[in-house]
Amino acid sequence: MSVLVYTENWDGKFKKATYEIVSYANEIAKQLGCDLIALSIGKVSDEELKSLENYGASKVLNANDDKYNTIISQVYTKIIADAVNATNASVVVFANTYTGRSIAPRVSVKLNAGLVSGCIALPTSTQPFVVNKKAYSGKAFADVQVNSDIKILTLNQNSYKIVENKKDAAIEAFTTEIPDNYFKVKSIEISKASDKITVNDAEILVSGGRGLKASEHFGMLDEIASILGPTATTACSRPITDLDWRPHSEHVGQTGKVVAPNLYFAIGISGAIQHLAGINSSKIIVAINTDKDAPIFEAADYGIIGDAFEVLPSLIEELTKLKNS
Ligand SMILES: Cc1cc2nc3c(=O)[nH]c(=O)nc-3n(C[C@H](O)[C@H](O)[C@H](O)COP(=O)(O)OP(=O)(O)OC[C@H]3O[C@@H](n4cnc5c(N)ncnc54)[C@H](O)[C@@H]3O)c2cc1C
Repeated sequence: MSVLVYTENWDGKFKKATYEIVSYANEIAKQLGCDLIALSIGKVSDEELKSLENYGASKVLNANDDKYNTIISQVYTKIIADAVNATNASVVVFANTYTGRSIAPRVSVKLNAGLVSGCIALPTSTQPFVVNKKAYSGKAFADVQVNSDIKILTLNQNSYKIVENKKDAAIEAFTTEIPDNYFKVKSIEISKASDKITVNDAEILVSGGRGLKASEHFGMLDEIASILGPTATTACSRPITDLDWRPHSEHVGQTGKVVAPNLYFAIGISGAIQHLAGINSSKIIVAINTDKDAPIFEAADYGIIGDAFEVLPSLIEELTKLKNS
């Protein structure tokens, strides 16, 4: 028996979310008294693969073939399902990213395995296997019991801390037969729209709403994010993308991105329930709003009742001083 973790990579690099799921899966392996095996698909350097041992992986399976550099769900599903069978895995862990959310259900169907998506904590019990997840767009929590022999979990980003647990992992090539007719699409070229960190990966989000009145005022948010460094970026409420003031990729909420940064600034955002559904896993929320009765203050850890056009210039000044000190 083993626990298998699918370690997603981005252009051959692992991200924080990868190390979070390896740490999480390692703790489950400890609960079950078995080994943690990591599976990587696509081109990733040996050095990067070796880094997985720092978080508990005792073996790394490397499915490296040029044909796998484009993520094709059908192909990835077959590789992962074959790896589950080859390693006799009873628990399979994915990150709850776009890729994880698209592939985990397919693997679940292929292996007749129960799937819990959006887990936020370790299983509270392994017999029966019970795990906690977000429900109703983050407005509730659910304990879910999985009765199948193989259990598949997707872990929400920033829900579980990275824990060092050094092992000496061997890297083994993993090959499996994939029928030619599975390769139905191929990426020819990927042109990135921006090199900015994405809202899902950022540790700090500087987010603005309709209270900022016009698209040009979002420059203040860009400035704050740039002072706060490369782990910070900007986000916004839905009306802002509906108005075309900011790109859709920054839209946070029930119908946008669900985020879980360490720090979320809600500036001129009322705190409608659909917005809160996307941010309520943030570690700290700071609200800036002129209306003392705005619902965002119910969700906020810190609040400034004030006009963003007065507060933000002072904030920029103080943060700049702090950065230069
Ligand atoms: C099915 C459905 C799905 C939805 N999905 C989403 C979603 O995913 N994400 C989302 O965000 N919304 C979503 N909405 C919309 C949501 O209901 C709200 O309408 C929206 O979140 C409000 O955006 P806002 O807070 O930016 O604007 P407003 O509600 O207009 O709030 C602006 C806030 O700015 C404050 N303000 C005004 N001037 C200043 C100033 N000078 N300084 C500081 N504060 C100021 C005001 O007091 C107010 O609280 C959805 C709605 C529906 C029906």
